[in-house]
Amino acid sequence: MHKLAQMKEQGSEIRFILDVHLGRLAKYLRLCGFDSLFSAFFDDREIIDVSMRESRVILTRDRLLLKNAMKANGYLVKSQYHAEQLREVFEEFGLKKHVRLFSRCIVCNTLLEEVRKEDIADCLQADTSRYFSKFKRCPTCDRIYWEGSQYDNMKKSLKPLL
Ligand SMILES: [Zn+2]
Repeated sequence: MHKLAQMKEQGSEIRFILDVHLGRLAKYLRLCGFDSLFSAFFDDREIIDVSMRESRVILTRDRLLLKNAMKANGYLVKSQYHAEQLREVFEEFGLKKHVRLFSRCIVCNTLLEEVRKEDIADCLQADTSRYFSKFKRCPTCDRIYWEGSQYDNMKKSLKPLL
């Protein structure tokens, strides 16, 4: 079986690396729980190397990058709009049934950990503390997440997909 077909079958296990133009798409994929490596400083060579080393699917809008990737696996993103890009990737890799919202840090891609409210009380604003009870924290960058208005807009734009 072709390697990319194998990766598609893995579904939730699938891992991505995105080129420098797809930062917003990376955030939305992370929001949905998918391991999505992105840096504005990756060059093509690094993207291809990491893709091969870590079995990551390259997402790019750059035909040449994919051509140079040869043995590495990649998908050419067609749309220039992030909502449409997300739909493309969801359809291509059958991601819908593997979505785990708010399980991964959208800034640094690390899996989030549940955290008790009393342990982070000092970091919360009064309103947040009053209205929300479930929190998660990123062990890498220490950001705190809760399912409040913070992400309502992102969630709204995901609705047609989920
Ligand atoms: Zn983080």
